Amino acid sequence: MAFLMSLIKNKKLVAAIIASIIVIVGIVSFASFSNEPCDWCGESPTKGFKLNNGGKSYVCADCRKKCAWCDDKADKHYENGLEMMVFVCDDCYEDISD
Ligand SMILES: [Zn+2]
Ligand SMILES: [Zn+2]
Repeated sequence: MAFLMSLIKNKKLVAAIIASIIVIVGIVSFASFSNEPCDWCGESPTKGFKLNNGGKSYVCADCRKKCAWCDDKADKHYENGLEMMVFVCDDCYEDISD
């Protein structure tokens, strides 16, 4: 208990803890992380991406990293006909949009 009291008395530490909680909550809500399974591999957590029909496509961090076509680093994403977000590298994206 004495330890807890000294912790509460340390106002700087309490302020630092509160500030870091606010930052974490801000990051999580900004990134809209979700526990929905990934559309590609079924893993979670995932990030939700808005689809043209108003629904959402959920993709995990691993599936967002690699190009779906050539395994290069993915920089772009687009919605395919199956309402899934496809992550692709610059080269493949150009091929698709041509
Ligand atoms: Zn995945
Ligand atoms: Zn590619």
